[in-house]
This record gives sequence, C-alpha cells and structure tokens, in this order.
Amino acid sequence: MQELNELWNVIMEKIELSVSHVSYEMWFKPLRVLDFVDNKKLILATKSTFAKNQVLKNYYDKLKNIIKEIFEDDVDIEILDPAEEKTFLSENKKKDKTVDIQSDKNPFNPKYTFDNFVVGKCNQYVYAASRAVAENPGKKLNPLFIYGGSGLGKTHILHAIGNYIREYKPNLKIKYVTCDDFTNDYIESLNQAGKINAIGAFRTRYRNVDVLMIDDIQFISKRMSTQEEFFNTFNELHLNGKQVIISSDRNPDEIPELTDRLRTRLKSGLIQDMQTPDFETRVAILRKKCQIEKYSIDDETINYIAEKIDTSVRELEGMLSKVWFLATLLGKQSADISDAKEAFDDKNEEKNEGGKNAEQIINAVCDYFNITKNDIIGKKRNKEIVEPRMVAIYMVEEMLELPLVSIGQLFGGRDHTTIMHARDKIGKEVKTNKKTQNIINEIKKILQGG
Ligand code: ADP
Ligand code: MG
Repeated sequence: MQELNELWNVIMEKIELSVSHVSYEMWFKPLRVLDFVDNKKLILATKSTFAKNQVLKNYYDKLKNIIKEIFEDDVDIEILDPAEEKTFLSENKKKDKTVDIQSDKNPFNPKYTFDNFVVGKCNQYVYAASRAVAENPGKKLNPLFIYGGSGLGKTHILHAIGNYIREYKPNLKIKYVTCDDFTNDYIESLNQAGKINAIGAFRTRYRNVDVLMIDDIQFISKRMSTQEEFFNTFNELHLNGKQVIISSDRNPDEIPELTDRLRTRLKSGLIQDMQTPDFETRVAILRKKCQIEKYSIDDETINYIAEKIDTSVRELEGMLSKVWFLATLLGKQSADISDAKEAFDDKNEEKNEGGKNAEQIINAVCDYFNITKNDIIGKKRNKEIVEPRMVAIYMVEEMLELPLVSIGQLFGGRDHTTIMHARDKIGKEVKTNKKTQNIINEIKKILQGG
C-alpha cells in the first residue's frame, strides 16, 4: 500500500502541473487510490457519483495520458463512486486479511461536530438527546436509537457525540462501527485459524468499551450467529452501564428479520427520529456550510437552492458545492443566482441523459398493467393496484437512483419506508421469480419503444 501511495503521489504531481488549479482541487485532489490490479488497472475512489461522472466526462483522457507517460504503457483506470467503493473494499477484504479496520486512529470526522450541526424542528429532539448522551454517557438514555432517511444527518450526529466525548472525556473508550464493519469483523474472527483467540479478541474489542456506536443497524445480518453476538454484546454493555448508540434508516419495528428479543432490546431506551428539514433549516444549513467551506454565495442564491431541494441534506450540500464550483470555474469571487440556475440545468440534463424520467416510467407501468396514473399514486390498496405501484417504485428507484424521500413525493407523498419496502420486495422477486423478471423486461420494452 505504501508503494501504491507513493506511485499515486507521483501521478498527482504530474496532474497538478497539467490541469487548472480549480479542477485539480475540485476533482483530482479528492481522488484516492485503492488498488493497482496486476499492475494493469488502477482503481480510484471518488467522493460522490457526481464527482465520478465529472471526472469520467471531462478528465478521463487526460488522466489516461498522464499515466501512460509515466508507465510508458496503457493502464486501465476504473473510478468508483462511494457505493462501488464499499463493494470493492468488502470483496477485497475477503482476499486480504491484513487490512485492519480496527486501527486505533480517530474514527470521527472532525467536521461532524455539534457546533456544525444545525438544529431545527426536524432534529431538535435527536440533537438534545445526543447532547445529553455525550455529556453523560451510560446514565439515562440507553440505548439511544436514532432513525431517519438517508442523508439527514445520522452519521453526523453520531460522530458529533464521538468528537465531544473524545474532547471532554478522553479517558472513555469509544468504539464506532458501521453495522457492516461489525458483521465482517465477526465473520472474520469466526473464520480465523486460531478461532477461540480470534473470537476472544473480537469480544474484547466490542465489550471492553464505555461507548459503542453502531451506524446503520438496518443492515444487521440475517445470520443468526451475528445477531446473537450483537445481542450478547449489547446486554453485556448495557448491564455494566455502558452507553450504546444506534442509528438506522427506519424504526426497530420496520427492520426485517430481527429476532424479537433483539428488537425488544433496541426499543428499550430512547427512540428518536429525524425528519427532513423545513425551509428555514435548509437555509441555515446552507449558510453554515458556506461558513465552514469559505464559500461566498449571496442570499438569493441560497434561498433558491433551499427552495428547490427539500429532500436530504446530503443533496442540499452537493448542490451547494456544485454551484460554488461553477462560479469558481468562471473566476468569480462569489456565486450568484446564474450559477445556481446553471447547476440545476445540468442536474436535469444529467438525469435525462439516455434515460427516462419518472413520469415516463410510471406511464409505462400503467400501460403494461392497464391502470391509470391516479391509481398508482393514489391510496387504493387492492392487489391489482398495489403490485403495479410497487413495480413502478422499484423501477424508478433502480433507473433514476433518486433519494427515497423524493420518490415518496413522486408517489403521492408516501413515506420513505414505504418506498424502501417496495424496492426491497420487488428487488428480491426480480432475483428469484421469472414472472417478475418478465414483467420488468416487458415494461422496459414499452419504455424503449416510446
Ligand atoms: P445520514 O447518515 O443520515 O445518511 P449524514 O450524517 O451522512 O446522513 O449527513 C449527510 C450530510 O449532511 C453530511 O455532510 C452532514 O454533515 C450534513 N448534515 C446533515 N444534517 C445536518 C445538519 N442538521 N446540520 C449541518 N449539516 C448536516
Ligand atoms: Mg449515515
């Protein structure tokens, strides 16, 4: 890995000399190198799908040429967005046991603090509970269970608790993991040769702490042994007055395939949900972000962005940095409404590129099932409507990759958990059931045919 990083530094130095300062800062600096497969293919990671697409669209050839000059040979380049990176890393971990996710370095993002967290109606209770837990871990609100849709700030608030405790109670031992980390870590220790020792070491890592945080618990493995291990970890910590903090994209009752006793445990403390932020909170979040990142963007533009994006904070932030980037490309000192309009135009184009919009997908589903759009987005619950509705939700999610909250809005203001349920259900059927596969294929044909 050391060598690989050095190699990457050489490449980066050369890139820095060949592209503008702004594009270097914006697109190249955030790239990370993950692997150099068989000395033939470089695997790079980006911060977002948007960043990936931008690099592919605008800089791929340049990158390739620079690397070719260094190696005097063609090198393939694969760029991964965060989701692809995750898959890549988990596949690679299986091969490479030396990767140690349990290093002691600070797992918390220094930007994810309480100070940087904007409090509004949507998250005031989560904020208050998190502060109380950070100030007095293990005392009252235990476990603290936080849930809400993607991009609403769950990971941020967990890190804020972590950063706070590290600063004000440095003697406390904190362990923060995603649910996937926990599962992989456990499975690995089961598979290791000195099994008993490995499991012992695993238990020490998770039970010998004052605060345990598990992010995205909804991914808890269906494997009974992992759930059992988590259940026992939880009990031991809880019994000893240690704090447990959990986040999830849905409430405990909606997490599928959870054993009853684990569900009961998860519900035994304080459960708080995060809602999507209202307009004022969105504006405040954008202002805060400008202050942190030193963007200069006028009020009209901030309001414009806050009006247009009302789903997740992650989307909101993505759009803000895009607007800022477009302004800097033009050499402006501050961004104004024209940059925002440009950014939104881009976004609309991106969505439709070679593809269809939600309206067209829903219409195709209606055509296939011979029902109306009102049936689909309405409230009817008979089987003839419910199935097509779920198929439409699945297809919109799969083809457009919109946030669940936005899809919920497209489908008559449904809750994001309903959307998730439909997506998961049809997603599963598509893999196992020929009939469902055929339905989806037929609808895709209708879409293609116009
Ligand atoms: P989740 O874990 O719920 O998917 P994250 O915690 O990753 O969401 O939040 C997505 C982004 O939005 C992060 O950059 C985070 O800092 C930001 N964010 C979310 N909520 C707030 C808030 N209330 N104030 C400031 N930033 C926020
Ligand atoms: Mg998260």
